[in-house]
Amino acid sequence: MSLVKNCKEVAKSIFDITPFTMLDYPNHLACIVWFAGCNMRCSYCYNPHIVLGKGKKSEEELLEFLQKRAKHLEGVVLSGGECTLYKKLVDLCIKIKGLGFKIKLDTNGSNPNVLKQLIKQNLIDFVSLDFKAPKTLFKSITFSNFYDALIDSLQILQSNDISFEVRTTVHIDILNEHAINEISDILLENGYSGIYYLQKYLHVEQTLGKMQNPIKIFDKNLLSDKIKIEFRN
Ligand code: SF4
Repeated sequence: MSLVKNCKEVAKSIFDITPFTMLDYPNHLACIVWFAGCNMRCSYCYNPHIVLGKGKKSEEELLEFLQKRAKHLEGVVLSGGECTLYKKLVDLCIKIKGLGFKIKLDTNGSNPNVLKQLIKQNLIDFVSLDFKAPKTLFKSITFSNFYDALIDSLQILQSNDISFEVRTTVHIDILNEHAINEISDILLENGYSGIYYLQKYLHVEQTLGKMQNPIKIFDKNLLSDKIKIEFRN
């Protein structure tokens, strides 16, 4: 009996599936699985419909989709929302791995225990960790108290043999160059030697906190040169 037939119908937690991306998983053709819900409320969030919305697809539908696409895709990006909130994530990753896919996890770092389990069981291949803000600004930007959890997640990634990157969305009016330098220092203190990616906030009408276009201008010249920084759209 196939994996798909063995999978029982569970509550729908998957908001949607993007069937194909060449951009979201470095060097891999992949699909993106968007999990509904998030435990943060970043004002600049581009996905309020996913954060506040309900899932529309079940695990069974996802696995059926993946089985059909197995010859065309190499990887699966688990994103959201915050995918680590999905209670059956470890089991789901076992099933996705069983179909032969690599897994990339996009996370806000709020759930180090799930991250640890996934790494321990060798279920994920790459992680994008969102470092939202330094401690002093974390609550005002994310409307959450997960800074310590984020640092735990960073340290778990750092101390395990797993590929990962760290990235920050920059809206200059709420996170300036000084804050980025603070994050850079924290990354260095924790032994991070990879590229630190900055994603410039691009204004859209529908953000979670009705964010406005930045008034200030980001000055790259004020950034620390202690860490390698790259900008990404
Ligand atoms: S940007 Fe913030 S609110 Fe939106 S999905 Fe990411 S962590 Fe959640």
